[in-house]
Amino acid sequence: MKPSEASDLLTRCAAFDNRQPSATAAMAWASALADIPLDADTFAAVDRYYGTPPKDPGQRLWIQPHDVRRIRKTIRSERLENFIYEPVADESPREYLARLRGQQNALASGRVPQPPARLALTGGPHLTVVQALDGVGRPVPDSDEDDLGDSVRRTGPLGIPCPKCGAEMGRPCKLPGGTDKQPIGRPRPKPHPARVAAAAGQPVADPAERAREEERRREASRLALARIAAEEEIHDAEIVNEDGAP
Ligand SMILES: [Zn+2]
Repeated sequence: MKPSEASDLLTRCAAFDNRQPSATAAMAWASALADIPLDADTFAAVDRYYGTPPKDPGQRLWIQPHDVRRIRKTIRSERLENFIYEPVADESPREYLARLRGQQNALASGRVPQPPARLALTGGPHLTVVQALDGVGRPVPDSDEDDLGDSVRRTGPLGIPCPKCGAEMGRPCKLPGGTDKQPIGRPRPKPHPARVAAAAGQPVADPAERAREEERRREASRLALARIAAEEEIHDAEIVNEDGAP
């Protein structure tokens, strides 16, 4: 802001604290707030400062330029609370950054209306869904005897066939072998981790699915790095233009 604008701001401050506006003070405030425009948010920062009680009830409030800067920033960031970036297909990292900055600035300045608060999903699924899911994934016994036996057998990894080595239910996992000293099929001291996981009800990892997940993560890392690189490249220019010219 210019000294003439700082003078207007000091007049607002004086309305609260009876300070004596002076040309010297206006020059100093203009210098301290050179990058802050005199807009509605700047005046609102002064109002909020004097509208908030001091921590110590006996303390006399006396606003400083850094208070204006801090509270104005808070006012603007409060408008970004429900900000959701609206992407455009096939945008480059540079286009993304420019659009992100533009959308955030428009919202922070109050030029565009606030988005509604996002609706949160609360509570669990509907009762009918819970009841339907209750039967999913459980074996259906042919008879009561089977049911009883099943509950006895299915107490650990040996209660199911091993998805890794193919050991049958109730039989220990098998070690690989094939040499004279180590014939195929000797018992493994511990069940295979996949069998333990499957017995605990965890999904068996599909190698193809795992490969797709790894590829997805690699691609996400590559994009993140590209964005960081682009941001660093134009960081300096952005800092100068952050609040715009008054
Ligand atoms: Zn096994």
